[in-house]
Amino acid sequence: MTHRLPVFAAIAAALVLSACGQSGDTNAAEEGGVVNLYTARHYDSDLMLYERFTEQTGIRVNRIEGNADQLLARMQAEGDASPADVFVTADAGALWRVQNAGLLQPVQSETLNAAIPANLRDPEGRWFGFSRRARIVAYDQARVQPAEIDTYEEIASPRFRGQLCVRSADSVYNLSLVGALIEAWGPDRARQWVEGVVANMARPPEGGDRDQIRAVGAGVCQIALTNSYYYIRLASGDDAADREITTRVKLAFPSLDGQGAHVNISGGGVAANAPNRANAIRLLEYLASAEAQTLVSQHNNEYPASPNVPAPAPVDAYADFQAHPMPVSAYGPRQAEALAMMSAAGWR
Ligand code: FE
Repeated sequence: MTHRLPVFAAIAAALVLSACGQSGDTNAAEEGGVVNLYTARHYDSDLMLYERFTEQTGIRVNRIEGNADQLLARMQAEGDASPADVFVTADAGALWRVQNAGLLQPVQSETLNAAIPANLRDPEGRWFGFSRRARIVAYDQARVQPAEIDTYEEIASPRFRGQLCVRSADSVYNLSLVGALIEAWGPDRARQWVEGVVANMARPPEGGDRDQIRAVGAGVCQIALTNSYYYIRLASGDDAADREITTRVKLAFPSLDGQGAHVNISGGGVAANAPNRANAIRLLEYLASAEAQTLVSQHNNEYPASPNVPAPAPVDAYADFQAHPMPVSAYGPRQAEALAMMSAAGWR
């Protein structure tokens, strides 16, 4: 396995940085032309982003990859000596966990504040959303009318008893959605919704969002909860069987209280002990640029975060929906309550 290499690289980086003296407030560290990126995203298209950033700024990007929880644990273990400059992951709930562990620092940047809508970033500037995804419904168009699934309430209604496919409760996507419902409706109504979802499950939760869409295509269930980009990938990807499924399984954008679909982000922030803080901010500002938002949307099929950046193909065909304006920073603090509610209802 390649597990050891990044660890040695990190130790080496830490030694180099400590040899420079006080990290963080010296030009010596920043003139190194480096930014250490801890990222839970690993897409080829992201590599292209970092190459473009290096071309434009001369700053080299060192990537340390892992899932969000692994990277969080690693930054905690490294403590003050962590070489992490920037942390990037999907889901505002996952960003909140890192923020809540004290591993991110506030950033004030007019560029970031202008590029990213206020509801898609932490009010204190500890993280910023660079792309959006909606958590919505894929439905079997032979068995479901779009009007039957245009609200979140309907996902949990008796109309769909035994007809819903959904992934497990420990998925941060589901925790953020239930967190948003608690925020919008209060705990009692959110609990009723969760209980309705469990009653509607066609099978115990298994697999990821794409598996739920495929299960609708196979007739296992009539509706499935999914993030928007998974559906768009099936619809526009190389797999002919997946593309065929999306000719029969369509995407619905339920509205929450008439204000639009539940939206989440991918984003990042500056690490609490970033040795290359100025470079870290420059990387965030690049990720917030129209160029970077467009590249991410084209290749990962998320939506640009900014309303001023048009969604490119193939995402543009699915971009005409109303997004709920709730601040995504509301989701994280509700996670524990959401998980307790889901577990109590039997959502595994
Ligand atoms: Fe995902």
